[in-house]
Amino acid sequence: MNSTDSDVVLIGSGIMSATLGVLLKRLNPKLRITLYEVADEISGEASDGWHNAGTGHAGICELSYTPYPEPDGSVNVTKAIDIFQEFEASLQFWAQCVADGVLQDTTNFINPVPHVSFVRTDEQVPYLKARYDGMSAHHFFAPMEFTTDRAKITEWAPLLTEGRAQEAIAATKMNGGSDVNFGEIARGLCAWLNEQEECKVLPGHRVTDLSRRSDGKTWSVTAERSFDGQAFTSSTNFIFVGAGGGSILLLQNAGLPEAWGLGGFPIGGEWLVCDNPEVVSRHEAKVYGQSPGSAPTMAVPHLDTRIINGRKSLLFGPYASWTTKYLHRHGRYTDLLRSIKPHNLATLLKIGATNLDLIGYLVQQGTQTMEDRVNALREFYPAAKSTDWRLIEAGIRVQAIKKTDGEAGIVHYGTEVLTSEDRSVSALLGASPGASTSVHIVTEVIRKSFPELLAGDEGVARMRQFIPTFDMDLKADGAGAKFRELAKPAREQLGLALD
Ligand SMILES: Cc1cc2nc3c(=O)[nH]c(=O)nc-3n(C[C@H](O)[C@H](O)[C@H](O)COP(=O)(O)OP(=O)(O)OC[C@H]3O[C@@H](n4cnc5c(N)ncnc54)[C@H](O)[C@@H]3O)c2cc1C
Repeated sequence: MNSTDSDVVLIGSGIMSATLGVLLKRLNPKLRITLYEVADEISGEASDGWHNAGTGHAGICELSYTPYPEPDGSVNVTKAIDIFQEFEASLQFWAQCVADGVLQDTTNFINPVPHVSFVRTDEQVPYLKARYDGMSAHHFFAPMEFTTDRAKITEWAPLLTEGRAQEAIAATKMNGGSDVNFGEIARGLCAWLNEQEECKVLPGHRVTDLSRRSDGKTWSVTAERSFDGQAFTSSTNFIFVGAGGGSILLLQNAGLPEAWGLGGFPIGGEWLVCDNPEVVSRHEAKVYGQSPGSAPTMAVPHLDTRIINGRKSLLFGPYASWTTKYLHRHGRYTDLLRSIKPHNLATLLKIGATNLDLIGYLVQQGTQTMEDRVNALREFYPAAKSTDWRLIEAGIRVQAIKKTDGEAGIVHYGTEVLTSEDRSVSALLGASPGASTSVHIVTEVIRKSFPELLAGDEGVARMRQFIPTFDMDLKADGAGAKFRELAKPAREQLGLALD
């Protein structure tokens, strides 16, 4: 007889928990999995369609992954190549889910949208050319095009040149980009999981306490049901804290030594959205620019085609905003205060003192008027009219702050998996590139906490039923033909372009 109520508890119904739950259940159909979600709806926080930009981050257009030129004038494209390969795992997994009936109707969650990088000024144009030279030399980015020709840019994205003064501009474009509704994917995956034997998805349940049981190995999980406040405690062998912004508070509650000194700094977000069909129909791209001044990398502005619930809109942003909540809908204004503990106070103060640029940026963003925001949009779309755009709230990113950063006092902008020493708890911190690399991230969780599922040739073969490219190095020199052979069926299944 089992000594715990479930083998796996997943906290949160965002893209991370949903992906981990489905992958684990498919790898081992005997697993008993319970997923708790505080909200009544599934995946309504950062993974929800309107709360993120829906960019299938593949390194194609995001200039923040390819920093300014090296001393020899070249641009290091290693990070873009890595992210492309990580996103490939997501495409492969989603395509297989569609083939196996786990996910339905691809246009609900992924659509082909070209990815464009756009720069202006005499300083930026040579940078983009050097980036293009580095990227297009790799087989992942071989179909990329580069131009400084205004007429060509008008053909690719007419809004970029409409009303623009004569100035140096350049762009790159690849048709293989995508717009993704991560919330729809998570909802589809959770629906499938909930139908499986010995698996439960429980919306309306807030996990309030995680504590070790007396055996020192397994865990007690207490969840409060929102409609009547009743608390339930159950036991499990493994916990995945996929609670998005809520993860830091839960990790602190669990008392893990690994969470000692950990803090979280929330940054809210806002978008401008345009639904005017006359404007929307003239833009078919995700256009990423350069980060303005002191803005953190995750605040790089972009003008995006979005397809949500079958409807096309344009989105521009993100703008940052002040908040003390860790979750958009189910956070509390006391979240930041409650997260401050004696063990992280010094780290938080140091972060405050060494990130004055970031604080100045947040103050500047928080005091913007609508006209200021539209002026930022006009850097991309000079003829934009304020009346065509409305402001909406985006998701909250809780940037992890760790004691191990020591003197550096770094706010983490990346995504990081934290695992307890005995591997019975895993948690996800940070938000970028986030959802796009969810399959790669949860594969790392499985590698650490369920190594038996992936062991040997049998384990690799098992995983390749669900991620056909698992453990293949598609980025190596000479792997171009192999990559194309494997990438093609997944893209066909998902209705995406390869070139
Ligand atoms: C402004 C913005 C733009 C972004 N753009 C992109 C993009 O273009 N492309 C991309 O790939 N990524 C993007 N991201 C990142 C991406 O949204 C996240 O990485 C991803 O959605 C995180 O998924 P998650 O499952 O970890 O968290 P979430 O989707 O936030 O899910 C966590 C869930 O846990 C629940 N929860 C929290 N606490 C508890 C509790 N105590 N008990 C029970 N349930 C709980 C929450 O209600 C929530 O449903 C963006 C993020 C933001 C904020």
